[in-house]
Amino acid sequence: MRLIFLGAPGAGKGTLAELLADHADLVHISTGAILREEIKAGSDLGKEANDYVKQGKLVPESLINSMLENRLEQGDLSNGYILDGYPRTLAQAKFLDQLLARLDTPLDHVVLVDVDQEVIIKRLSSRVTCSQCGAIFNLLQQAPQKEGICNKCGGTLIVREDDKEEVVRHRLEVYEENTKPLIQYYQDGGLLLKVDNSASPAIALEILLDQLEKGSE
Ligand code: AMP
Repeated sequence: MRLIFLGAPGAGKGTLAELLADHADLVHISTGAILREEIKAGSDLGKEANDYVKQGKLVPESLINSMLENRLEQGDLSNGYILDGYPRTLAQAKFLDQLLARLDTPLDHVVLVDVDQEVIIKRLSSRVTCSQCGAIFNLLQQAPQKEGICNKCGGTLIVREDDKEEVVRHRLEVYEENTKPLIQYYQDGGLLLKVDNSASPAIALEILLDQLEKGSE
């Protein structure tokens, strides 16, 4: 199964994608997480992307598209994947259409992860990320077992530079302007499913599994 997860920053795409990936044995591909790894490793791509990511701006199309193309050509995706954070613009969606046509691997569904604006602001301002493995925790909903320490790898939890309030506001604007039009694009293509993620990721997973089952009947 090949899926895209769409939704505003803070909608809980990453956490829900992680849960579904575990449940259905899919690979979770987060372009933001790949970029953060590249930045940490100090690679050429990381150096080029660094300023954009820190300021909550979109990384230029040429960089992100070739990064995605490399990822989708790797050999570990035969059971399917969840794309989280890509596409973010109409141009990226069209690039992806062409790439998937060439690879002969069409999408099954595009999942819109939906939440109220108020919930988003609350979530983003209480989100912490592991500086080592990238795992995400939420101090309100999914607090780590030990304060400041990652449950998964023992790494130190930090507030991402781009989860600070100013940058969050900018990321929400970028989403409204560039990414929201994709909802219509995929609705028109007959691929869109919607899942409300205001309550909890576990509840959203149940709803989504139900929808995916119906969608493939
Ligand atoms: P995320 O973890 O998905 O919120 O992404 C973090 C940051 O990585 C974004 O604010 C952008 O700077 C960059 N980024 C991730 N995916 C993309 C994309 N598809 N296009 C452009 N920039 C991206």
